[in-house]
Amino acid sequence: MSIRILLIEDDRELGKALRNSLGTEGYSVTSAASLSEARALLANQAAGHSFDLYLLDLGLPDGDGKSLLELARKAGSAPVIVVSARPNEDSKIQLLDAGADDYLVKPFSVGELLARIRVALRHRGSVAQAATLLYQRDGLNIDLVKREITLHGVEVKLTPTEYELLARLVRSAGQAVSHRQLLADVWGPEYLEHTQYTRLYIGQLRAKIEKNPADPHFILTETGVGYRMLAAS
Ligand code: CA
Repeated sequence: MSIRILLIEDDRELGKALRNSLGTEGYSVTSAASLSEARALLANQAAGHSFDLYLLDLGLPDGDGKSLLELARKAGSAPVIVVSARPNEDSKIQLLDAGADDYLVKPFSVGELLARIRVALRHRGSVAQAATLLYQRDGLNIDLVKREITLHGVEVKLTPTEYELLARLVRSAGQAVSHRQLLADVWGPEYLEHTQYTRLYIGQLRAKIEKNPADPHFILTETGVGYRMLAAS
């Protein structure tokens, strides 16, 4: 059975182009051009027509697409990728904190969108079974069961906090994780304002696993948002 995507987008040209591209990749796409249409489809979903992923535009004719996030979350665990023309960083953080799995700022390439969809689906699928516990990419091996990290066969020694931070990024590999999420999950909810902690510890991690910490390959900065671990190969 093909993967069902609900595309919520009012731009006709873009909607058509996305439907074609996604269709070519074998996805089954249902379209909604407004909040009210999307709400109707989500309500219908409860009757057994479930979607596997949502692509959500924010600027819709009858309101802000953001208001659908909560509804999509309640409807199930299908990932939501926000597709927005707004490059505002505050709103990116709010979207991730509000339950979006990822976001793309327009204009974006179809290749980039397809890659993000694959990551979101893989991540969500692996969460349903068991968290991804083994990361392998370009000589970096992270085993979250054995708590072992090697870089080109050489053991990387981390402090407990560095390890917890890296493990958190690995569990969401390929997806942006906000400073607040990292602070809440690694240090605890009382540390939400201490963004200097993430910067400091990311710097330490990069010094240990990146060939060139100033031009990182594995732990990427999402400016104003947080960090993204490069997806595993
Ligand atoms: Ca729009």
